[in-house]
Amino acid sequence: MKREVYILRLNHRPQRDKRVTTHLFLAARALGASGGFYSGEKDEKVERSIEKVCRSWGGEFRISYVSRWRKKMHEWKKRGGEIVHLTMYGLPIAEVIDRIRRSRKSLLVVVGGAKVPRKVYELADWNVAVTSQPHSEISALALFLHELFEGKELALKFKDAKIMIVPQKRGKKVLKLESQSKDLTNNLSC
Ligand code: SAM
Repeated sequence: MKREVYILRLNHRPQRDKRVTTHLFLAARALGASGGFYSGEKDEKVERSIEKVCRSWGGEFRISYVSRWRKKMHEWKKRGGEIVHLTMYGLPIAEVIDRIRRSRKSLLVVVGGAKVPRKVYELADWNVAVTSQPHSEISALALFLHELFEGKELALKFKDAKIMIVPQKRGKKVLKLESQSKDLTNNLSC
């Protein structure tokens, strides 16, 4: 059975983070995560964007808002799950990924927003650095999932997709798998 991997995005601020948080969850979905949570300010625009992509492109990825990230992390561990926090201050991914991969526990991958409270570092089972240089939550998450799934995520198929791309050497070929799928140009832009 596929291992469950969820993302917790901390401290979302609609004004500054709308695109980043949406893109973070799109990357998570495309690269094999099962779903996500976000804390900070509730943002229905982000939720609707992700729902729209999932309706058209398939799969079971869902996100939900959590008002108390600390409670979420405590509960995750209480239910037997494991937590990875992505931070440039953590241990190099190359040193720890084999051990993280070997565990079959459901995994919560925490990524920060503007400022990450100390408690996150303490509650995480693993503080993992994807290089010790600052970059972004999206690149850190993408590389982490790629290492975790060892590239198998690149060939994922999504259940109940209404549209699907047929890879081409040049140009675009899109299959409509259901007649009522309309807004094709919009979906192509993601
Ligand atoms: N200075 C911020 C802090 O308090 O940690 C980092 C902000 S960074 C734009 C947002 C998030 O991207 C971080 O919290 C972390 O999850 C992720 N990130 C950025 N660079 C990373 C790296 N080299 N390794 C792992 N995660 C990283």
